[in-house]
Amino acid sequence: MEKFRRAIYPGSFDPVTLGHMDIITRASKVVDELIVAVLQNSSKTPLFSVDERVKMLKEVTADIPNVKIMSYNSLLVDYAKEVDATIIVRGLRAITDFEYELQMAQTNRIMNSEIDTIFFTTNIVYSYLSSSTVKEIAMYGGDISNFVAPCVEEKVYKKIEERKQKN
Ligand code: ADP
Repeated sequence: MEKFRRAIYPGSFDPVTLGHMDIITRASKVVDELIVAVLQNSSKTPLFSVDERVKMLKEVTADIPNVKIMSYNSLLVDYAKEVDATIIVRGLRAITDFEYELQMAQTNRIMNSEIDTIFFTTNIVYSYLSSSTVKEIAMYGGDISNFVAPCVEEKVYKKIEERKQKN
């Protein structure tokens, strides 16, 4: 019998974009189970808390049965081992992603040779898209409906409004 293939797609997902969703959909078709894992202690200051990001990811992936959403705050290879995943999924947008991703994939493989990274090249439609772009456009009141799911769009505007009132 073939081994059950469980993969992890790690990231900040602050917030999840249509680019991420495209990778999730495509990756979910080539593995048995895909764990989308939200990194907890990112050095970046996030707009959304980890719980909020997990909740949004659950909402937008609700119709894909073999996708699970989790969060983690350890070394990725250790977390992968803990959940018995042997594949790390990452997305590549442009050449600028490549150097960092290559370095990470190689480092992870040195730390645990049982775990390999597979890359999905971006859907050309989303090649320019990042969570930071979405936040920046929303900050200035721009339209983000082409970049995120409707339920995410609503939450981004609300959160930015809350932030503005606090400051
Ligand atoms: P991180 O902070 O780990 O880069 P992100 O949430 O920004 O987390 O991205 C997670 C992964 O998704 C990365 O591999 C990134 O390259 C990929 N990704 C992000 N946006 C896109 C996109 N528009 N198309 C393809 N891959 C993407």
